[in-house]
Amino acid sequence: MIGLTVTRNQILARNSVSLNILKRHKKRDREPKVTNTQRALEYFDVAYAPVYGTRWPSVRLALLSKPKYIAVLNNFASYEETIDRFQNLGAWNIGKKYSAIREKMRMRQEQSQTVSQNQQRGETDEETTTGKSVRPSLIELDDDELAARARVVPKERYPEEYRLRAAAQSPAELEADLASRVIEPSEAGGSSLLMDYVPATRLKGLENWVEEADVFTDASQGDQEIGVTVIKQEEPIDFPKMLKIFAFEKGNISDFPQPRFDPQLRVLDHYAMDGASLLPVLALDVKPGDRVLDMCAAPGGKSLLVLQTLLPGLLVSNDVSWGRVKRIRNILKQYVPRGMSSIENMTVVTQKNGCTLGEVEEYDKVLVDVPCLTDRHSLMEDDNNIFKTGRNKERLRLPELQSQLLMSALEAVRPGGTVVYSTCTLSPLQNDGAVHLALSRIWQETTIECSVVDMSQAVRPLSFLYRFGSNLGLRYGQVVLPSLLTNFGPMYIAKIKRIR
Ligand code: SAM
Repeated sequence: MIGLTVTRNQILARNSVSLNILKRHKKRDREPKVTNTQRALEYFDVAYAPVYGTRWPSVRLALLSKPKYIAVLNNFASYEETIDRFQNLGAWNIGKKYSAIREKMRMRQEQSQTVSQNQQRGETDEETTTGKSVRPSLIELDDDELAARARVVPKERYPEEYRLRAAAQSPAELEADLASRVIEPSEAGGSSLLMDYVPATRLKGLENWVEEADVFTDASQGDQEIGVTVIKQEEPIDFPKMLKIFAFEKGNISDFPQPRFDPQLRVLDHYAMDGASLLPVLALDVKPGDRVLDMCAAPGGKSLLVLQTLLPGLLVSNDVSWGRVKRIRNILKQYVPRGMSSIENMTVVTQKNGCTLGEVEEYDKVLVDVPCLTDRHSLMEDDNNIFKTGRNKERLRLPELQSQLLMSALEAVRPGGTVVYSTCTLSPLQNDGAVHLALSRIWQETTIECSVVDMSQAVRPLSFLYRFGSNLGLRYGQVVLPSLLTNFGPMYIAKIKRIR
C-alpha cells in the first residue's frame, strides 16, 4: 500500500515538471525553425564572402535565382525540327558561336603578332595596321578586365570584418574549441593528411568556416614539394563536332520547351542541363576511340554528353549508389534507341565504390564529378540537403572522399591519359583543396607522376557563355561563377595529365 500512496508534494512536483515541459514546447513552437537551406546560406555567407570578395553579392543573388539551362540535342533522334524550334525561340548553337569566337581571337592574335614584329622593325602602328582591326567584344572579357576598363580600383579581397574576426581568435580559444568539435582522421575514415593540410580548426562549426579562405594561403606544402608541375594548355579547347548544344544568349532567361518524344525511334529529342556541366566534358577532350570512365556518373547528364560526342570507343558510367545507377540506365533508355548495338556495346553501367575501384591504367580519360556541397541545390531544396544536421559528418568528410576518388581516378587512367576533377561548389576546400590533397598523397604513396594542366587561357573563348572567376588565387583549376546574366554553375574543373 505504501507504494501507491502519493503525497501532495509529489503531485505538486509532478505538475510543475509537466508545466515546464509544456512551457518548453510552447517556446519551441514559437521559435522559428532554421531550415537546411537557411543553414546553407549562413555557411556560404561566412565562408565565401572573403574568398569571392566584391563578387560574392552578385554570385549569391544568382545562386538564389532561377538557374539557366542548355539543351543538348539527341543525335539518336530526328532533330531537324527541334533545331528550327530552338532557333525560332532565339537560341543559338554554342558550337558554332564558339568556332566563330575562336576564329576572331586567332585573327586578333595574328594581327597583334604582326604589329609587334613590325614595331620591332621600327615601323609605327599606323603604318602597319591595315584594314579593320579585330577588337575583343566586351562580352568576351572577364570581370577583372571589365573592371580595369572601367578604371575601378579593386577592393580589398578580405573585408575588414573577416580579417578582424580571424585576428581575434587566439590560439588558446582554438585549442579549446578543437577538442570538442573536431572530427578525428580515424572517424573520417582516412589518413591524417587532411588534418595535416587543413588544420582541424578549419573544419569546425559555422563560426570558423570563414577560414576556408585561408586554406591556400597557409598551406604548408608548395607544388614543388608534392612533385606537381603545371603545364599550360596553349591551344584552345576543341568543341566536338557532333555535339549540338543550344543556349540563350547572356541576359536572356527564356526556358527551353519540354523534350519531345520521337515516336519512331522511341527516344527524347533533347536533354536540358545546367550549362556549366558542359565544361568538364569539354576539358576531358575525348578523342575518337577513347576508353572513358565517368566515375561518379549518376544521374548521367555528363555521361550523356560524352556519348553525344560520338567519339568514345568505350564509356563506363559508374556510381556507388544502386538507386542512382538506375537513373543512369533510365537516361540511356530515354536517349538511345533500343537495339542500336553499336552504342549499346560501347556503354557499360556499373555500380562500384569509386574509391576502391582497383582498376589500373584502364582508361584514356576519367571524369571524376565528385559529391560536394552542391551549392545551388543546398540553397534551394530542403530535402536531401547536405546541410541537414544529421549529415554533418558526411559533409565534413567530403574533402577526404573527394581526394580519395581523385586518387583512384589517377590510378585508373593510363600514363598519357587525362583526368578531369569537377564539383558544383564554390568551396575552395572541396575544389583546389581536395585536388592538392590527392596530389600530395599520390606523390607520397605511389609512383604515379602527374602534371596539372593550366586551362586559364584555353577557357577564354568560352567567356561568351560563362563567367569565369579570375584572380581568386586558384592554383589548379578554373571556376564558373553563377551570374544573373548567365546563370550557370557553380562549376569547378581541374585537368590533370598522368605522366607515368
Ligand atoms: N556526374 C553526374 C551528372 O553529371 O549527372 C553528377 C554526379 S553527382 C555530383 C555525384 C555522384 O557521386 C552521386 O551520384 C553519388 O552517388 C556519387 N558518389 C558518391 N560517392 C561515390 C563513390 N564513393 N564512388 C562512386 N560514386 C560516388
